[in-house]
Amino acid sequence: MAVMTTRSCPCGLPEAYEKCCGRFHAGTASAPSAEALMRSRYSAFVRGDAGYLLRTWHPRTRPARLDLDPGMRWTGLEILDTADGSAFHSTGTVTFRASYRGGSLHERSRFERVDGAWVYVDGEFLA
Ligand SMILES: [Zn+2]
Repeated sequence: MAVMTTRSCPCGLPEAYEKCCGRFHAGTASAPSAEALMRSRYSAFVRGDAGYLLRTWHPRTRPARLDLDPGMRWTGLEILDTADGSAFHSTGTVTFRASYRGGSLHERSRFERVDGAWVYVDGEFLA
């Protein structure tokens, strides 16, 4: 779709989706940092890609299945803080606010690297 190629990525970065989170969703690249993985997971929520969300969930904490609410309208992601989570780390945290129509989610998420790839472990809701 021509519309998608000219729009910036749902994660909030100015790059087109295909050059940003789309590469991770398609499996042609893997997220280089915990923040990049967090952004790509948000984009997956926006696009309703439950398969990607499960693939990037730590095997220890991954739910058996994930039912996304098709009525949920995500409106933006704001990364508030990051700790570790770079190529030199095996764990990292990302604090973010994800907005949706009618509210927002403020969470500190924990990430780990499993076989070199960043995965989501769990999150703590913040006030
Ligand atoms: Zn993106």
